[in-house]
Amino acid sequence: MMKTIGVLTSGGDAPGMNAAIRAVVRTAIYNDMKVIGIRRGYNGLIYGDLREMNIASVGDIIHRGGTILHTDRSDEFKTPEGMKKARNIIEIFGIEGVVVLGGDGSFRGALDLSRMGVPTIGIPCTIDNDINCTDYTIGFDTATNTVVDAINKIRDTVTSHQRANVIEVMGRGRGDIALYTGVAGGAEHIIMPEVPFDINDLCKRLIQGKDRGKRSHIIMLAESMFDVNELCKEIEEKTGIETRATVLGHIQRGGSPTVADRILASRMGYHAVQLLKEGIGNRIVCIRNNQIVDCDIEEGLAMQKGFDEELYEMSKVLSI
Ligand code: ADP
Repeated sequence: MMKTIGVLTSGGDAPGMNAAIRAVVRTAIYNDMKVIGIRRGYNGLIYGDLREMNIASVGDIIHRGGTILHTDRSDEFKTPEGMKKARNIIEIFGIEGVVVLGGDGSFRGALDLSRMGVPTIGIPCTIDNDINCTDYTIGFDTATNTVVDAINKIRDTVTSHQRANVIEVMGRGRGDIALYTGVAGGAEHIIMPEVPFDINDLCKRLIQGKDRGKRSHIIMLAESMFDVNELCKEIEEKTGIETRATVLGHIQRGGSPTVADRILASRMGYHAVQLLKEGIGNRIVCIRNNQIVDCDIEEGLAMQKGFDEELYEMSKVLSI
């Protein structure tokens, strides 16, 4: 049986990471394992930035955003020298298994650790919901709730002035944040990378809406698709509707995790330790049809996932 495991958070942070760390630490200690907190992502493994954790070190964190272990990106870890240093630290501290909380990039590191003979489990944490082997990632629910809260506020002022507002949200090449918040926030239009964008279609919908007396026009835009200010100018020129831009930015990454994220994080952290306890490594913990399952890291990374087309089509119907 495994006696000592390590846990680290890597890449972009996400609300709910702390709840997952808590679940990992408590489940491991309950099962008589020692847990070492590795700080600053893979850099902590290279530089030996480690600390043994106890039941109390994860007290009072379930409701906090960010990550108490801090996170980082480590280019050194990707080099043979970096890997060698990490291996030394793992041996010196007697770490027999590792739980990695992060996104796709972090899981490539987890795959390297597994190949090195260290059983490693990945837990998907990212607000972008861009990990294909799982229906949802930890942080997505909190981020989308933050965005919807912002939409509600923007709608108040937009309605007062009969304006349009283009709200740019995160997503890293994925439209899930824009789509889910567009539906939940009652947006008139959702611009996301998975769907070809037709500005004339958008403008037609805005004009039709205005003609029937609509006073607010909310347009969701997934990041890195267009210059949001240029887009607003174009919409304004074509429709005559005053159009403002809002870029929500890193507000989406912080905040107290929602109930859904805390429960998902707790379930996934618990499951990760169950796997290590049985000596199983090289897995990503996933949620599919509300069941916590796991899959091979390499297979998980290679998986493809479409977007929810039905939700997108529905959003067009509901926003007429
Ligand atoms: P995320 O996990 O959020 O997708 P990154 O892509 O920035 O974030 O990855 C986080 C870290 O994971 C990187 O800084 C690096 O240390 C490690 N990593 C990323 N890609 C690889 C890789 N191909 N091989 C080994 N480690 C990697």
